[in-house]
Amino acid sequence: MAALVWPLERNEIRRHKQNNTFGMVRDGGTRAHQGWDLYALPGTPCHAISDGTIHFAGISGSLGKVILLRFSYQGQTFYAAYCHLSSTLVLEGNDVARGEVIGLTGNTGNAQSMQGQDQHSHFEIRTIPSPGLGLGGRVDPATLYGAAPTGWTFFEGHGHKVRTTGIPGLKIVRERIE
Ligand SMILES: [Zn+2]
Repeated sequence: MAALVWPLERNEIRRHKQNNTFGMVRDGGTRAHQGWDLYALPGTPCHAISDGTIHFAGISGSLGKVILLRFSYQGQTFYAAYCHLSSTLVLEGNDVARGEVIGLTGNTGNAQSMQGQDQHSHFEIRTIPSPGLGLGGRVDPATLYGAAPTGWTFFEGHGHKVRTTGIPGLKIVRERIE
């Protein structure tokens, strides 16, 4: 089975802070953050992390413009949620290919006040399309990718571009592409 690709070409947890990763990481461990905040200037392309089908593309409350990509991985169905987007480039029901650009990052929803290094795309991996508050119905994206990209830059290195692919089992593969 093909490995997942990363949602952005350059994947970097916002401000490299743990409270922008998944889990009970906010307000001293009392409040959940339901995904990863990936630093991105508005207009950054978002890639389908897998072959799949667009389950939802539209406005979803405080998350602003959202794309939900339904995909299967290791025999299980998941939904990748791309949030605070400026544009959705796909429609519900569209089949998309792994790596295809499906939306552009932005600051819609409750990210409207984000400036500078705080601009980001909130990215979740869900097990059901519309979970509620807390962490239920979601998994840590690191369980699929092996690790959160805290403090790492995946796209440019030593003067050449690399494509990075997450493999289960704590392995990160960097593939030189030019
Ligand atoms: Zn977030």
